[in-house]
Amino acid sequence: MATDHVDVLVVGAGLSGVGAACHLRRHCPDKTYAVLEARDAIGGTWDLFRYPGVRSDSDMFTLGYSFRPWTDPKAIADGDAIRDYVRRTAQEHGVTDHIRFRHRVVRAEWDSGRARWTVHAHRDDTAETVELTCSFLFTCSGYYRYDAGYAPQFPGTERYAGRIVHPQHWPEDLDHAGKRVVVIGSGATAVTLVPALAERAAHVTMLQRSPTYVMALPSRDVVADALRRWLPAKAAYPVVRWKNVLLATANFQLSRRAPALVRKLLLRAARGRLPAGYDVDRHFSPRYDPWDQRLCVVPDGDLFTAVTRGRASVVTDTVDTFTERGVRLSSGAELAADVVVTATGLNLLALGGMTLAVDGVEVDLAGTVAYKGMMLSGVPNFAMTIGYTNASWTLKADLVATYVCRLLRHLDRTGQQVVTPLPPPDGELRPIIDLTAGYVLRSVDALPKQGDRAPWRLYQNYPRDVLLMRHGRLTDSGVRFSPAGTPERRTVRA
Ligand SMILES: Cc1cc2nc3c(=O)[nH]c(=O)nc-3n(C[C@H](O)[C@H](O)[C@H](O)COP(=O)(O)OP(=O)(O)OC[C@H]3O[C@@H](n4cnc5c(N)ncnc54)[C@H](O)[C@@H]3O)c2cc1C
Repeated sequence: MATDHVDVLVVGAGLSGVGAACHLRRHCPDKTYAVLEARDAIGGTWDLFRYPGVRSDSDMFTLGYSFRPWTDPKAIADGDAIRDYVRRTAQEHGVTDHIRFRHRVVRAEWDSGRARWTVHAHRDDTAETVELTCSFLFTCSGYYRYDAGYAPQFPGTERYAGRIVHPQHWPEDLDHAGKRVVVIGSGATAVTLVPALAERAAHVTMLQRSPTYVMALPSRDVVADALRRWLPAKAAYPVVRWKNVLLATANFQLSRRAPALVRKLLLRAARGRLPAGYDVDRHFSPRYDPWDQRLCVVPDGDLFTAVTRGRASVVTDTVDTFTERGVRLSSGAELAADVVVTATGLNLLALGGMTLAVDGVEVDLAGTVAYKGMMLSGVPNFAMTIGYTNASWTLKADLVATYVCRLLRHLDRTGQQVVTPLPPPDGELRPIIDLTAGYVLRSVDALPKQGDRAPWRLYQNYPRDVLLMRHGRLTDSGVRFSPAGTPERRTVRA
């Protein structure tokens, strides 16, 4: 078994992994790198999800890469367009040839003596195990399980005569035209699916246990359209990107400081798009404050339009049992359905399921503290990409990749080989994701923690992170630089 060595090994060829590789090529052209991808395609999320209407719910001027303008007229884009954008980016930057497909990384072991990771990948197609070494390990493996979405066990499904599908594994042969469809869920996927299915279905019912904030946004950005008429794409793009960043930051900060006001505005806007007398309080008024969970965006209010036209309806209730004909609710009512879509969410998965060991000691992720939201205490020469929860993922992914390139250049300049984050000396530790959504609460205990101050705290604030990660100091009390051969002390806090 031959062992290859690269300077940087990127795990995952989704939006983040392709972006990471492009940053490496642009800012560290002398570094060798490879990308290991478990699947046989580029694009990650945007290749996996194929349900009708699949689209972004962030605007593409911030979900696009900082270095490659988004030129499509649609600001909220379809899954196909995003997949195509990621693939073209990989091709144009010469990254595609560096991707090794069908390589699922299962384990990585750090050896301080050699200042190297040994990475083990499983090939699903040949059942071989491949071993590589690298000086720096950069995981861009997303945040959820690819093989199975979250599917709670509902009683009575065995007697149901219709079809049950999960959006993560949409069957190619499913024709919903003229059918009665029930979509269980109220998150981003449900609000995307309902209007898309309603175009051809007999009727679509969104069955939700509790409501989510739903906000209509224009699918086209008028400022971007105007600027693009006058300026080249390269000049217009950063202007629109910053405009959208500042608007999203202001929206988030206002929600945190004046939740009652933002709630009132959101409900008023929803009321204005629904028929007179519609029970907005029951179906669109959540029990939590705006941004305690991700806000759902609907382009041009398409969900509200489908409800207003009678093509779709919202029912707020819980499933008692599936019956032969559909779903019986706790209220006693029954929803007849030919197809039931369980848009019940994802299963969180850290680091794409791989395990880590440092000098022979297993890394317990839950015992580590994230440094700048991208490295782990006690884990040398390692970075991971976790995007924002309150803004586009790529804004953070770009910053993480920029920071990794700065770190690599700093190591070279100073003649050091190893960079190891340290845990905060004291203070409260908190969950790394501070959302109250079910999929977060189900798994957050197994994930790394964050501290209560910089550089261990995540502020979820892009302008602040730009200063910290693009321009901030690389050396601080939270990180140690050392030559090869320095054994790692145990740096996990009790
Ligand atoms: C339906 C849906 C809609 C979304 N919409 C938005 C949105 O509008 N805006 C937004 O900001 N975010 C959105 N997100 C979050 C979204 O995941 C990010 O936008 C972004 O696609 C994440 O990119 P990524 O490359 O980090 O992860 P992914 O897209 O998950 O890609 C990870 C890649 O790593 C590979 N991989 C995983 N584990 C391993 C392993 N062990 N070995 C090798 N390869 C591995 C996977 O096969 C995959 O190709 C959405 C998510 C979903 C599910």
